[in-house]
Amino acid sequence: MKIYKTYKFRLYPNKIQQELINKTLGCTRFIYNTMLYEKEKLYKQNKITKTKKDCIKELPLLKQTYPWLTEIDSMALSTTIFDLEEAFKNFYRTKHYPKYKDKYSKNSYRTNYIKNNYKNKIYENIKLDMTNKTITLPKLKNMKIRGYRKTKEIKGRIINATISKKINRYYVSVLYEEDLEEKNIIPTKVVGIDLGVKDLVITSFGEKYENKKYITKYEKRIKNLQKWLSKKVKGSKNYYKVKNKIKETYKKLKNARIYTIHKITKKIVNENDLIITEKLQTKKLIERKEMSKYISDASLSEIIRQLEYKSKWKNKHFYQIDTYYPSSQICSHCNTKNEEIKDLSKRNWTCSKCKNENDRDINAAINIMWEGLINNTKLFT
Ligand SMILES: [Zn+2]
Repeated sequence: MKIYKTYKFRLYPNKIQQELINKTLGCTRFIYNTMLYEKEKLYKQNKITKTKKDCIKELPLLKQTYPWLTEIDSMALSTTIFDLEEAFKNFYRTKHYPKYKDKYSKNSYRTNYIKNNYKNKIYENIKLDMTNKTITLPKLKNMKIRGYRKTKEIKGRIINATISKKINRYYVSVLYEEDLEEKNIIPTKVVGIDLGVKDLVITSFGEKYENKKYITKYEKRIKNLQKWLSKKVKGSKNYYKVKNKIKETYKKLKNARIYTIHKITKKIVNENDLIITEKLQTKKLIERKEMSKYISDASLSEIIRQLEYKSKWKNKHFYQIDTYYPSSQICSHCNTKNEEIKDLSKRNWTCSKCKNENDRDINAAINIMWEGLINNTKLFT
């Protein structure tokens, strides 16, 4: 099985390299817009659809007309044409027509990895050196990078690199392909996971991972700012000021949230062999309305996404039980369904039959674990 991982680094180009990156960004934008215009024209006049191949064939002629196009990495120009084709494919699916790009909507370019063997000398256009923390990119030579401090080596082979610019910062994302040897592990450690109302994640071992305090802080700040925004005159200077502040805080919140979730999911996948969760249900999301729905929605699906792909990477098993399984109503001690348990604001409830006092979330996590186990008995043979 092949898996794909992206590693994103901060990039430190010198003055000359910066100029070349900026130029490449400009050239790829130019190609994108020119090809889009040509495609539209041809279609309007003759009802002919220009393909990716047609566009690639026109590159040499364009380079003759605009010699500055030859100064940059030529691979970046072809990947731009692929992107345009992709944008049209998206259009047939989503009805979002490809737009002309400006500095704000296209500030990155991609280059594919090429390996050449010439006179017994190996040439690679992208080289990542994790020991010295440098990267070599086409036409740009060596540049300092920062990120993944503890990683000395990355497994797999490079597929491509995307260079991007944000305000005056440069980044490079390197996509790796890795061959994963598929081993069928017979699970010895099984965990059920309830995605919580107050706590983010509750395990059948009784562990609870709550939303970190700084996350709650950002959420509160956003709420306050939104209240503030509603009092401003729409379109006024202050209105945009507050709006920008909200945007900034959202970004900080998003980063903080992703960092926290990564830590939790990494721990759970490392410590267990079979990880069982519920499929996300809108019902549960509505129950979380004490927070903004947008926020909790994103967190829960991100947890599931990470658990799933990290399990795959580590050859662990991941399973989601049916949305309609009443995990919060069944008593995990005696298996009785307590249908009257509907008030989810209660932290604890007492089983009508065995009188056991159940912690709402841990009880649900244990039920999720058993239901997942019953559906996965084949893994143990
Ligand atoms: Zn009971």
